[in-house]
Amino acid sequence: MRLTEWLQRWWRARVLLKKRIAEPVWRRVVADVPVIARLSSADQHRLRKLSSFFLHQKVIVGAAGMELDEYMRAVIAAQASLLVLNLGLEYYAGWVEIIVYPDAFIVSHGQQDDAGVMHHSRRALSGEAWGRGPVILSWEDIRPKPYAAHGHGLNVVLHEFAHKLDLLDGSANGMPPLHSSMPPQQWSDDFTRAYHRMLSHLDHGHRSRIDPYAIESPAEFFAVVSEFFFEKPELLQEELPAVYAELVAFYRQDPLQYSAS
Ligand SMILES: [Zn+2]
Repeated sequence: MRLTEWLQRWWRARVLLKKRIAEPVWRRVVADVPVIARLSSADQHRLRKLSSFFLHQKVIVGAAGMELDEYMRAVIAAQASLLVLNLGLEYYAGWVEIIVYPDAFIVSHGQQDDAGVMHHSRRALSGEAWGRGPVILSWEDIRPKPYAAHGHGLNVVLHEFAHKLDLLDGSANGMPPLHSSMPPQQWSDDFTRAYHRMLSHLDHGHRSRIDPYAIESPAEFFAVVSEFFFEKPELLQEELPAVYAELVAFYRQDPLQYSAS
């Protein structure tokens, strides 16, 4: 074993010894979060480890009076880590902070148009992801709700962390850095075709089973289909099979294979 490898193993064992998410907290997360409940026990075990490392590497802070406990931190860490379960935490390198508000937060953005004019917009958001900066979340929009709201395919934590993956190559264009086995042209063709089909479907007054927010931009499209990939894999596979297959290749997991789905 090389020294660097030995050191890495030693460091990991030490973090796990001191920082592993406590058993009762982890059990609650598994029970409350359906995308985690349906993983095999072996995958849940790997996810608990990865989420513990995630919490060791990132700082989760409350804003506007929000107080966070171990359970809340674990709910966020577990879902963020689910996206990279077979990719690794390196995919979240280069930034450390996650800010949590009690409820939807108001942001005011300035944007300069081609003519050099600044436009300001104020909106209430449930989540936001910055390129090299923090992920911002509203607890009200991400807290597990056992009796309602599940089954629609929406998941703000998965959405914002999917943006982080997209932003890895510096641009929010709906295409994260692909593995060498994945032809970028194929991805681009599959996503562009699906995006335009959904756009024209909605333009003609039809309803969509996938959150119509997807057509805001290619970046939002990738974030929304990532939510559905984990939350409603059957639906996404039925509606957009080519996109589903690209996501299986990118995330290196196939939620349709999970035991209880
Ligand atoms: Zn978004």
